Amino acid sequence: MAAKIIKGAPIAEEIRGELRAEVDALKAKGVTPKLSVVLVGSDPGSVWYARNKVSTGEKIGVPVEVHEMPEDTPEADVVAMVEKLNADPDVHGILVELPLPGHIDKSKVMNAILPAKDVDGVTAEMRGYLLGGQEHLALVPATPLACIELIERAGVAIKGKRVTVVGRGDTVGRPLAMLLLQKGRDATVTVCHSRTADLAGACREAEILVAAAGAGADHLVKKDMVRPGATVIDAAINETADGSITGDVEPAASDVAGVITPVPGGVGSLTTTIIIGNTIKALKLQKGL
Ligand code: NAP
Repeated sequence: MAAKIIKGAPIAEEIRGELRAEVDALKAKGVTPKLSVVLVGSDPGSVWYARNKVSTGEKIGVPVEVHEMPEDTPEADVVAMVEKLNADPDVHGILVELPLPGHIDKSKVMNAILPAKDVDGVTAEMRGYLLGGQEHLALVPATPLACIELIERAGVAIKGKRVTVVGRGDTVGRPLAMLLLQKGRDATVTVCHSRTADLAGACREAEILVAAAGAGADHLVKKDMVRPGATVIDAAINETADGSITGDVEPAASDVAGVITPVPGGVGSLTTTIIIGNTIKALKLQKGL
């Protein structure tokens, strides 16, 4: 039987409805969450993501301002911009669009962000909360959180399940493994990477399988690696030769999976909504609300 397809858009809209209610309640108390995005250069993907944050913020009632800086901006000026935003009491969240131009050290810029305003969870302090099991204090990276939202809102229980995550990347796989291990979620987690001896075996064990390798358009996860009835979340974004986007899981896997997310139209549809959600959470943590 063909798998149930879980699309991201209706789930993102459901989350936005909840966030709008939170923003209304905050506005009634006299505070409005605000996100600042730093955009250096004109990478088309980054420009699109920055604009998308502005329009998503409008839908939720959270102002998003974009600070555009030319491609040749010196590293020190980008760090100075982040520090200016750190000091601005009206800014509750800061996000620097990646990739940065080659002459800028990404880690210097990321580490300049005040952890309390770090809405994509890139700083060591925010990672530490996640690692230490204190998710309530953490601003969690958007893509792994989007995977969790998709699983939970699709009505799939995580508790006690065997979950395999393909990829130990800093952006998706590693923080996702930490989220799955949090008390309350209680998954039993296997994390795979390029040196995993038996990737197919680890995938077949999984009641929930998350692909986050970005291992190219030739689809790393084949149909015969999916356990019948499993929930399959494809977080990868691979560009094909014709410029279209595809995931890490071959489409035929939907013949055996119970639930599966599409690419595009799955995990990626939630990430900007989650960044706005993190801005609201940042404000609440900053003000003890
Ligand atoms: P990353 O840092 O490049 O990490 C990729 C991971 O996949 C690494 O752990 C790597 O193993 C593993 N890997 C690569 N090829 C493999 C193979 N053949 N077999 C097993 N494991 C393999 O990636 P990332 O930044 O975490 O991103 C992961 C994916 O998520 C990418 O496709 C990215 O485009 C996508 N993404 C999506 C969104 C969204 O909005 N949907 C946002 C961000 C990222 P090693 O550690 O051994 O090298």
